[in-house]
Amino acid sequence: MKKENSDKDKLIEVEGKYSSQNIKRSVLKKQIIEIFYKEGTKTIAELRDLCNNSIPTLTAIMGELTQDKWTKKIGIADSKSGRRPAIYGINPTKGHFVSIRLSRRRTMILIYDMLNQPVSALLELKDGIDTSENILQIIKQEVLILLKEVGLSSKQILGYGITIPGLINMREGMSYSYPLLAQRPLLEIFGDLFEKPIIVEHDTKAMAIGELWFGLAKNKFNSLFVNVGSGIGLGQIINGDIYRGHTGYSGEFGHIQMDPDGELCYCGRIGCLETLASGTALVKKAKEEISKGKGTKITAMVNGNINNIKLGIIIAAAHEGDQFSIELLEMAGEHLAKAISILIHLYNPESIIIGGEMADAKQILIGLIRQKLKKYTMPFLKKETKIQFSGLKESAGLMGVLPVIMGKVLSIYFDETN
Ligand SMILES: [Zn+2]
Repeated sequence: MKKENSDKDKLIEVEGKYSSQNIKRSVLKKQIIEIFYKEGTKTIAELRDLCNNSIPTLTAIMGELTQDKWTKKIGIADSKSGRRPAIYGINPTKGHFVSIRLSRRRTMILIYDMLNQPVSALLELKDGIDTSENILQIIKQEVLILLKEVGLSSKQILGYGITIPGLINMREGMSYSYPLLAQRPLLEIFGDLFEKPIIVEHDTKAMAIGELWFGLAKNKFNSLFVNVGSGIGLGQIINGDIYRGHTGYSGEFGHIQMDPDGELCYCGRIGCLETLASGTALVKKAKEEISKGKGTKITAMVNGNINNIKLGIIIAAAHEGDQFSIELLEMAGEHLAKAISILIHLYNPESIIIGGEMADAKQILIGLIRQKLKKYTMPFLKKETKIQFSGLKESAGLMGVLPVIMGKVLSIYFDETN
C-alpha cells in the first residue's frame, strides 16, 4: 500500500505539481468551505478529523483561503492545556447572493451574505410573470437600485438564485408554463440578464430545500412540504434529497381531483384541490359571499373594495375573530387534511410541513387538521407523522436557493478554475 502511494505521489511530481497537486488542494479548499457552510466554525484540529489531512497541509490551506478572503479567523477556542487554537469560519462578506422569487403576480428580492444573513430589506414588487411583459427588465433595474441602497456593487455579487412557479422540465431546463420564459432555456434567459452564475429552481421545491437546510426538515430524511399560497404545491424530501420525478414535474399536488362535481380549475380539470383549499379559492369564495351581502370584517379591512381581498387579509380577519373568515379557513383545512392523508398513506413521512402564506393560519388550522387526519388516516401511519407549520413561512423559498447557488459558485471557483 505504502509503496503504491509513494509511486503515485512521484507520478504527480513528474507530471507537474502545478496540475494534479493543485487539483488536490482545490478539492480540499472546496471541502473545507462546504464544512464551514454546513456545520459552522471549526479549529484546524477539527478539520483534520473531518478532511483526513495533516495539520501542516491544513494550516497552509487555511492560510491561502483566509488570504483569498473565503474564510476568516473567528476567534480562539478554549483549551485545557497549552496553546488555544484558532477557530475559522466562512468570511460572510467575501461575496453576496441575490435571491429572487418570481411569482405570477408579484416578485420578491432579497440580498444575502455568504452566511445566509439578509443584508437588504425585502423588496416586494407588485408585478410578476402574469402581469408584466417587462418583468425581467424591471427586476434587473430593481436589483441595481437595491444594491446601491445597501452599498454593494455588482462585482460583489457572486451569483443569483431565482425561483419560478409552474412546470419546469429539468431535463431540458425549460419552463413551458409562461410565454415569457418558454423561448429559451431558463439558465440562458437569466444568465444573459444578470451575467453572473445563476440557478433557477421551482418555487415549491426551493421552499422544501429551505426547510431542509434551515427549517423544520433539517436533519430529516423523509419529509413532505406542502406549500399553500395562491396555489398548492408539494416538495418531497426523500432519503435526504429533493425528489423531482422523471422530468422534474413531481409535486403537482394542487391538481389532484378532490371533488368530481367541483369547480373548473385554471389547469382545465374539475374539482382540483386548488379549487377548494388554495388562497385563490378562498379569495374567490369570500368575494362571492360578500357580493351576496355576507357580513364580515374583511369588507372593512379592504375599505369596501373586494378586489383587494387576499389570503393574508382573510387570515388576519380570522385572527380577529371574524366568524366568516374562520369558516373559510376551516373549510380549506378539512380539504387539506383529506389530501394530506393521501400523502401519509403513500409516503409514510416523518413530518409534513405546511408552509407558504397559509402557515400564518397555524393557530386556526393545526388542531383541525390533526383531528381530521384521525378520520382519514390509518392510525399506525398517522401516529408516525408529525404535522407542523413552517416557521420560515414565505422566506423558505428565498433562502432555499442559497445553498444551491453557493454550491454552484464553489464548483466554478474550485472545480473548473484549478
Ligand atoms: Zn387544477
